[in-house]
Amino acid sequence: MSLDFASLEISAQLVQVTRELGYEKLTPIQAQSIPLLLEGRDLIGQSKTGSGKTAAFSIPILEKIKIQERSLQALILCPTRELCTQVAREIRKLGRRHPGLQILILSGGLPFQPQAAALQKRVHVVVGTPGRVLDHLGRGTLKLGDIRCLVLDEADRMLDMGFQDDMESILSKTPSSRQTVLFSATFPKTIEKMSKSFQKNPARVTIETEEKSHTEIKQKFFKTDENEKFAALISIFETENPGSAIVFCNFKATVAELAPELKRAGVSCAAISGDLEQSDRDRVMAKFRNQSTRVLVATDVAARGLDVENLDLVVNFDLPSDPEVYVHRIGRTGRAGKSGQAVSLVTPKDTHKAKIAAQFAGTKFELKTLRIQGDDDSSAMEPMGEALMVTIYISGGRKDKVRPGDILGALTGEAGRLNSEDIGKIEIHDRFSYVAISKKIAQKAFDRLTAGTIKGRRFRIQWVR
Ligand code: AMP
Repeated sequence: MSLDFASLEISAQLVQVTRELGYEKLTPIQAQSIPLLLEGRDLIGQSKTGSGKTAAFSIPILEKIKIQERSLQALILCPTRELCTQVAREIRKLGRRHPGLQILILSGGLPFQPQAAALQKRVHVVVGTPGRVLDHLGRGTLKLGDIRCLVLDEADRMLDMGFQDDMESILSKTPSSRQTVLFSATFPKTIEKMSKSFQKNPARVTIETEEKSHTEIKQKFFKTDENEKFAALISIFETENPGSAIVFCNFKATVAELAPELKRAGVSCAAISGDLEQSDRDRVMAKFRNQSTRVLVATDVAARGLDVENLDLVVNFDLPSDPEVYVHRIGRTGRAGKSGQAVSLVTPKDTHKAKIAAQFAGTKFELKTLRIQGDDDSSAMEPMGEALMVTIYISGGRKDKVRPGDILGALTGEAGRLNSEDIGKIEIHDRFSYVAISKKIAQKAFDRLTAGTIKGRRFRIQWVR
């Protein structure tokens, strides 16, 4: 099925925006869901990140939103703060031709008071985590009486994270006339039960099975000994030379050991662990997304809910015992239309695990031998060591009315005179921004930002290490 957006019963502006964003055809989940949601049906959908599910529920919400009404009309619940940010980002992109549209993120890990203050003003859509949304309800800063659409995104993960009671109590505080949309990767009994009690005759949509999509991921299994794993990993980096990669370990302790060891070997990498402060986590993730860091080392728990998809390479430094976890890990690789790579290190005692994982992912199991380079061959390390970008911090953000264009302007305009090709991702946060800059001109960019102004103001400029 390959429909285009113009064939939907949506406003010309929305069609226009999808064109501007370069969305040519509806993804399968969009083709199945959007027409039903526009009709007002409840929906229970199976899909994973990368399928375009965010636009699938956001387009109908935007189509029905009444901007002139100063009321909260849609609520989207997501398991993590990172997902909330990702979803809000997509709605903001799609809503760029809805002047006056206000979207607010209510996630934990951020101060409560500014959120409460923002709720005093006009807000049309809230994207939040169940815990924080419930906090606001409890303190009376949030009212859900006008909600017309409620979305539970990644509902199974919200359950895994212990949010069932919170979700149910939020649902019970919304009008029963609401439209309820539930997306989940898996359908344990609890989800089915929640659907029964909170949805009205929901339409069921599914996209192709996990197995099918994973055959596009090139999976390799390399035989290695426990004490050779590190050398094997370096050797894989040398041969694959990925732009971005995530290395999965089974234990926190392994992550804590491996990341510094990789750094010492000259690999541009960072560890992500559950123990990191939220702000450090944000910084690490921003650098990874804007390619200032090439390798992320993580456990499954730490990587949960992180916006790290579309990787060039996923490495299983340790094989997980659960083949479903294997499939979930490798599913993070592969950019749109391009096949991804997944490499697993297999110690003799892991051979059985590897066989099962391969079988589960629908691929042939073939154990290969890795040629490990000698220690003296340090020149081969070069490619993996250098990230192409570095990140600069600017002490102004959304609340200071700083927009990506202002930063780009400061760098490439008259005062900056830099080439826009050397400017990478610009991430605007509430009170600060990150901009990625090509390494080769980074010092110049830093100096010009320090000397210059943005929107006529002088902000503090720092390297993000
Ligand atoms: P999601 O599954 O919602 O996380 O979306 C994955 C990515 O696909 C996002 O970066 C979207 O901006 C993008 N996307 C959504 N719909 C389309 C489409 N119809 N065509 C191309 N890209 C899309």
